[in-house]
Amino acid sequence: MYRDKYDLTGRVAVVTGGGRGIGFESARALAECGAHVVIAELDAATGPQAAAELERLGCSAEFVPLDVTQSAAVTATADALQERHGRIDILVANAGIAKGTPGEDMSDEEWLLVLDINLNGVFWCNRAFGRHMLARGRGSIVNIGSMSGLISNKPQPQSAYNASKSGVHMLTRSLGGEWATRGVRVNAVAPTYIATEMTRMGRENPEWLPTWLEMTPMRRLGEPHEIASAVLFLASDASSLMTGSVVVVDGGYTIW
Ligand code: NDP
Repeated sequence: MYRDKYDLTGRVAVVTGGGRGIGFESARALAECGAHVVIAELDAATGPQAAAELERLGCSAEFVPLDVTQSAAVTATADALQERHGRIDILVANAGIAKGTPGEDMSDEEWLLVLDINLNGVFWCNRAFGRHMLARGRGSIVNIGSMSGLISNKPQPQSAYNASKSGVHMLTRSLGGEWATRGVRVNAVAPTYIATEMTRMGRENPEWLPTWLEMTPMRRLGEPHEIASAVLFLASDASSLMTGSVVVVDGGYTIW
């Protein structure tokens, strides 16, 4: 049955930055399809709340504190979860931040912070969780990239973010190729603007929002569940032939 391809019963999924936004909704999608979901989150308030909310919905979930920029902590967390559950089937490397600073004004610290969370953090997670998946010969990694890894946004300046997401896409292709014969698939989702905390200031900006809508063929932003659906597809056996792909979910933004 085709619906069996989306059945994640018995699988363990880890979602970084799963406390809110796209991460939380992705966690919910995976949990509703039967996975035990680990919310690996920096925020000590939203992380436990997210896990509790999934439990309230009748799903299986837990919270672990994690800062994805801390390579040693990422490895220790992956090892501990592998030890506790005996398997890690799915990783959604979702944690990310955006900064809207003109290139000429950007400090070293801001550039490094964005790259550290958005690109280094994704690699630390892919490597640490990927090692356990490779040892079992099975796993699916979904990295959250962005259409900003494919186009440069207008009108806001965000060079560090765009560069980081472009890096996520190439990392996805690179590891997808390296691990393709070893049972571990690595894909990415590249969303358009989604209604989350990350875009709140932009959505309230009288110059930015009309430009965003004008440049989007569907003339609307996305909702987190519309990204979670793509994450679910890539995490599940429904996408068994896919690796190294960057799935664009953008209301048509990159058509033009
Ligand atoms: P949000 O800001 O709503 O959520 C991001 C989550 O990541 C927060 O819970 C945040 O925790 C967490 N986080 C931040 N830094 C770290 C860290 N170092 N370690 C662990 N967790 C961390 O963002 P979105 O849900 O909108 O974005 C999720 C992903 O989707 C990001 O990678 C983003 O770049 C990408 N994306 C978003 C788009 C959009 O329009 N919203 C478009 C395209 C891509 P805390 O509360 O502590 O900061």
